[in-house]
Amino acid sequence: MTHILDGKALAAEIRAELKTRVDRLAARGHRPGLAVILVGDDCASQVYVRNKIKACADTGITSLEFRMPADTSEEALLAKIAELNADPAVDGILVQMPVPRHIDARKVIDAIAPEKDVDGFHVCNAGALMIGKPGFLPCTPYGVMKLLEKAGCSIEGKHAVIVGRSNIVGKPQALLLLSKNATVTVAHSRTADLGAVTRTADILIAAVGRSKLITADMVKPGAVVIDVGMNRDENGRLCGDVDFAAVAPVAGAITPVPGGVGPMTIAMLLTNTVEAVERRLG
Ligand code: NDP
Repeated sequence: MTHILDGKALAAEIRAELKTRVDRLAARGHRPGLAVILVGDDCASQVYVRNKIKACADTGITSLEFRMPADTSEEALLAKIAELNADPAVDGILVQMPVPRHIDARKVIDAIAPEKDVDGFHVCNAGALMIGKPGFLPCTPYGVMKLLEKAGCSIEGKHAVIVGRSNIVGKPQALLLLSKNATVTVAHSRTADLGAVTRTADILIAAVGRSKLITADMVKPGAVVIDVGMNRDENGRLCGDVDFAAVAPVAGAITPVPGGVGPMTIAMLLTNTVEAVERRLG
């Protein structure tokens, strides 16, 4: 029978464990603080920010929310980040992406102090991952690794295919799987015959942003299928990149959307925030 990888349940376990660590830090005189900056009024971003702030509250992490109008200048945003970098009450800084087009996202990310970059997007943290040094791992691929670990999925020697090569999901996911000795293939929009590639995957990770891109005939029987995608279907319902109903009977294990990778991303953001404090305090 197909194993459903329950990200919601695992995220709840991780949050409960984090709460104990947060209480311990608070008893030592420092409650972890996460600053969340939202520029503009993108609806999806507002939902993501609300969920992150709620998760902080559930775990005992202090959240500081900064809403800036869509016409905020790059200079003003960089000044806010500099202020938060210098604030000892702030352990983690997150700028919700995407930022408005007139702002250079890379410049913004790299303005965050690497030791407060709990999203793991800063060039220093990306470089640390690349060469296998400690740093902050990007939350979504980190959450996927935790899901695979919890499911007891063996990675070493397996063929992992990742569809998508973004800096925040596909590429770091490939590096993390490589570090666990998987043989990794990264597919993307220019990949010829995507199905022929995905059918060779023991572990298939879809991080594209196209509903039902991955169909049953593209999956090797028994494969572990992780669906990172977050899309809306024709009825406006949240769905992933994988045609869940058709693929689940073929797969050995599969994540649902919602309730799979999404909650794990937030749990790993909180984990990074708590780790930022623990590293600083020793
Ligand atoms: P990007 O748009 O940055 O990257 C998408 C990738 O998919 C690109 O590498 C692109 O290729 C590739 N691609 C596009 N079309 C195809 C195709 N037809 N066949 C094969 N590859 C294709 O997206 P993100 O990585 O930021 O996000 C991917 C998805 O994951 C989105 O749905 C997003 O909402 C979701 N997401 C979910 C999170 C969660 O917590 N669950 C967190 C972050 C993202 P190319 O490089 O050639 O353009």
